[in-house]
Amino acid sequence: MKEVILIKNGELALKGLNRNTFEDMMIKNIRFRLRDLGKFEYQKAQSTIKIEPLDDDIDFDEVVERISKVFGISAYSRAIACEKDFEIIKEAAEKFLGEELEEVSTFKVEAKRADKRFPMTSPEISRELGGYLLSKHRNLSVDVHNPDITVTVEIRDTQAFVRGNQLMGAGGMPIGSAGDAAIMISGGIDSPVAAYMMAKRGLRLTAIHFASPPYTSEKAEIKVHSLLSKVAKYSGRIGLLTVCFTDIQEAIRDNCPEEYFTLVMRRMMVRISQKIAKKEKCLALITGESLGQVASQTLPAIVVTDAVAKIPILRPLIGMDKREIIEISRMIDTFDISIEPFEDCCTVFTPKHPRTRPTIEQLEEIESAYNWDELIETAVNTAKFKAIN
Ligand code: ATP
Ligand code: MG
Repeated sequence: MKEVILIKNGELALKGLNRNTFEDMMIKNIRFRLRDLGKFEYQKAQSTIKIEPLDDDIDFDEVVERISKVFGISAYSRAIACEKDFEIIKEAAEKFLGEELEEVSTFKVEAKRADKRFPMTSPEISRELGGYLLSKHRNLSVDVHNPDITVTVEIRDTQAFVRGNQLMGAGGMPIGSAGDAAIMISGGIDSPVAAYMMAKRGLRLTAIHFASPPYTSEKAEIKVHSLLSKVAKYSGRIGLLTVCFTDIQEAIRDNCPEEYFTLVMRRMMVRISQKIAKKEKCLALITGESLGQVASQTLPAIVVTDAVAKIPILRPLIGMDKREIIEISRMIDTFDISIEPFEDCCTVFTPKHPRTRPTIEQLEEIESAYNWDELIETAVNTAKFKAIN
């Protein structure tokens, strides 16, 4: 008898990505996620992936915790694998699910017999096992339509599996199946949520963070590392590039009218980020912008920012309320870190009266007061790399 994990995969009606590729990517991602927990065997069969621990001292709860965050998995279950002998199956079911069955009031047994050589039919297995469990738990009654727990018995080629209710997986698509994109990450609430949402659609993430020391502190950078390591529990490893933005921000302060500071800064961020994205083979940028949330996120401000973009900017939060964004940030456990109060480069030199209806012509005119090319090149070329796990 051995505890295993059985995985059902998610969105399989995919164009261009067949089931095998999807499953292989998912297995590769799971292997990577479990790599430091011990040795496991992976098996694909009958639209299920089985993960069996090969070492005895594996922290199974941690395995389950990590698997619950792997994209591409729509549902999974902890199951007990045992010999295909009905007496052993009965014992396994009671040992594995007995405690859970004490806590509920209704159940049913579902049997699936893939191995037709097994001497009992599926209805016989259901009836016999149901009767046995009823005799063990006086609190229980059978409800075939809406049971609290469905005990499933599967008789496969080499083993039998017994499991309780399935657990909901992280959903989405396997990381890497949609390609690579660069998340522009601040220390705020929104960008980590945007990162999570696009990783869920199968994008592998590179992160870009702008820091302006000494106006922003080292603590602000560490905060970004902590946020990304929360996101990485879902997205897998993230390569972070930290850009020194100080010289550019000072040049903006010295050469541009105050009410345009934020807009020029955002255009510079996009110019630098897309150059880094290109180097890192990322096809798009991602931001945590949400329409109307702040002065730099009005539609005219977004038009002005987009005007310098040569690659798409994905904005998964564009139509979301702050409340909805916060709900996700709590779910992925980034909220408490995001609300720690450290300066972000966006809050350095903030205009008192920012422009909310800027035009592209105004911005081009303002930016022509200075030659930014060298500063941009330097910022791109001196970005510091750190891998976040
Ligand atoms: P967030 O909560 O993500 O910080 P915000 O509501 O504070 O967003 P802004 O400060 O206008 O909004 O930033 C909008 C987006 O620009 C962010 O979601 C992020 O993608 C990007 N951004 C802002 N500051 C930085 C930074 N220091 N480094 C990298 N990207 C940034
Ligand atoms: Mg911010």
